Amino acid sequence: MASHKKLFGTNGIRGVPRKDLTLEFFLEMAQSIGEHFGAVKVMLGHDGRTSSPTLARAVSGGLMSVGCNVVFLGLVPTPALQYAVKKSDAGGGIMITASHNPPEYNGIKVISTDGVEIPREDETKIESIYYEKSYKLKDYEHVGTKTIKDDIVGSYIEAILSHVDVDKIRKRALKIVIDVGNGVQALAVPKVLDALGCKTLALNIEIDGSFPGRGSEPNPQTLEGLSRAVREFGADVGVGFDGDGDRSVFCDDNGTVEHGDRSCALLVDHCLSKDPKRSVVTNIATSQVIDLIATKKGSEVIRTRVGSVDVSRRILKTDSLVGLEENGGFFYAPHMPVRDGAMATALMLELLSSRDQSLSALFSALPKLHQKKLKYHRSKEDISRILKEVSRQAEGKTKDTTDGIKVWESDTTWVLIRPSGTEPIVRLFAESDVADTLDRTVDRYVEIIQRFEESAKAE
Ligand code: MG
Repeated sequence: MASHKKLFGTNGIRGVPRKDLTLEFFLEMAQSIGEHFGAVKVMLGHDGRTSSPTLARAVSGGLMSVGCNVVFLGLVPTPALQYAVKKSDAGGGIMITASHNPPEYNGIKVISTDGVEIPREDETKIESIYYEKSYKLKDYEHVGTKTIKDDIVGSYIEAILSHVDVDKIRKRALKIVIDVGNGVQALAVPKVLDALGCKTLALNIEIDGSFPGRGSEPNPQTLEGLSRAVREFGADVGVGFDGDGDRSVFCDDNGTVEHGDRSCALLVDHCLSKDPKRSVVTNIATSQVIDLIATKKGSEVIRTRVGSVDVSRRILKTDSLVGLEENGGFFYAPHMPVRDGAMATALMLELLSSRDQSLSALFSALPKLHQKKLKYHRSKEDISRILKEVSRQAEGKTKDTTDGIKVWESDTTWVLIRPSGTEPIVRLFAESDVADTLDRTVDRYVEIIQRFEESAKAE
């Protein structure tokens, strides 16, 4: 088979409509996905991006033309669509979203019957159908139907509430600030908080595809408004969501926005207290704080490639309790083994209601670790030369090549050099318990990466 450009990236298909991804692309991709699913019921939802309703029509038409019956959910958070697919007799789902990307982007996430994004091998199968145009268009007697179902958010909210101790949380009447960043979690999380008896202050709550509030990516820079509001409101906790509502980034009562792996570490600790000894899944780039927390609870940490589908699928395979990513993605398997920003928020509130400490005190009690994250633009060829050189220099040290190359310089200092799945970029992640050691280690690896830029210039 001829080798084709990969269409699926780390997390579904992404691009800029009209520039990278045409309307015809969405139509033909939907036909390919429909062909892969077979003539089954497919749930279709979309985020609040301005291009989403148009693309939803193209995707809907594509699915129906190959015999799929479309159940159109309209505007929904990604995890709500995943929950609806899992709970129904649908043969699959499609979410039109570009998650946290800028407003001009859009994309497709493909969901299988279990509510989890399809496995990597199914992505390859769909790409083959797309490139070979091997989907079969149905005649007028066999084209699919379209029905509208716009009431799925209620059962999604009920499902979240069924996994936490509602009475206990209500008794604490916790104060929370949420920043949904004009994203679709606005449809669900305020109702979850209402049911949990919280006093809520909501920022950027209007769904708006141009993301005028603070953009669609939650991070310490974009969440300055959240941090300020938490201090002014005297809140116990703050949380910011990404554009499609599957990721949550937390801020403590002092207004400090924490990295996803640290807030997830607290959630891991809490979930393992409820259900001890179960394993934890995370990718190779997250902090060793997870191992330190899980080991204390007698649990194993399983590492995967970077990508939420890799974490989800491994949770299923190993019957793990939770999963996490350093970007604030938290997977609670008893609900569903996928990222869900509203579920993570409910668990954080349950954690706060079961401890007598503030969130800032809980963060302070976590092991202190220093991290660095850098990225460099390099050609594909240079990236493979860099990886080769890193591997050569790391001879004799503990290495992990699950995704890129991770080198353990000591028991508590590691460096990961990882090529991006979608762009000509190489990323460097490093962590150590000693700041000086981290700096010296990073300098050595940066020197290797920079050497290849010089060789490129010299040619
Ligand atoms: Mg997302």
